[in-house]
Amino acid sequence: MHCESSLLDAWQRLNRRIVRCARCPRLRAYGAEVARRKRRAYAGQEYWGRPVPNFGDPQARLLVVGLAPAEHGAPRTGRMFTGDRSGQWLYRALYKAGFATQPESLGRDDGLRLRDCAITAVCHCAPPGNKPTRDELLQCRPWLDELIEQLPLRVIVALGQIAWQGVVAQARHRGWLMGRAARFAHGAIVPLAGERWLLGSYHPSQQNTFTGRLTEAMFDGVFEQARHLLSSTADASADPDGCRSAV
Ligand code: SF4
Repeated sequence: MHCESSLLDAWQRLNRRIVRCARCPRLRAYGAEVARRKRRAYAGQEYWGRPVPNFGDPQARLLVVGLAPAEHGAPRTGRMFTGDRSGQWLYRALYKAGFATQPESLGRDDGLRLRDCAITAVCHCAPPGNKPTRDELLQCRPWLDELIEQLPLRVIVALGQIAWQGVVAQARHRGWLMGRAARFAHGAIVPLAGERWLLGSYHPSQQNTFTGRLTEAMFDGVFEQARHLLSSTADASADPDGCRSAV
């Protein structure tokens, strides 16, 4: 279909530009150093070593937004949330809710597909200490802006406070959220303009999962809610051109 191929083209063009991005010298230098140094367990692997592109369905109505790739996870494998424990939690939850074809993401050639779901981060490069600076987050913001522009989104799940703030800024900028304070909380649901919703979840970092702050049932509940909200909106896939209307 023409519409599907143009969405795919736009998706691929955006990812190519992200992968070449060098707006944050500190993060690019750090990424190169991590890729050169490697963790002993991955010594025989070639690290991706560049900004991590978006992953998923170019026609997704659900967007999952994380903070930043973990040092030896996505910057090694080249796929969002792949190669670390957070990813194990995320893909398992997406699979259970019907958004992923397999419960694990092992690498870029493992055959995993996301259905109606895409994954991104407010910072596409791994920052030292998992802490991007405010300037780095601002530099990376246009990539999220472009992604949101091209997807027919209905539900955005923000993993953690910093991702939440990034999405809220986007929603305000687009006039999807006005006036109200939108406080981050696990399980928060904020209606946005145009039959869209923002959902909050604790990030599935080890800091949260090992301590029991985030349980598997709590995390699954967020994606069950996303599934429920998507089923309750008009099915835009009924578009006569065979593609969901871009928003
Ligand atoms: S963090 Fe974002 S803006 Fe900065 S270099 Fe990486 S991709 Fe570019």
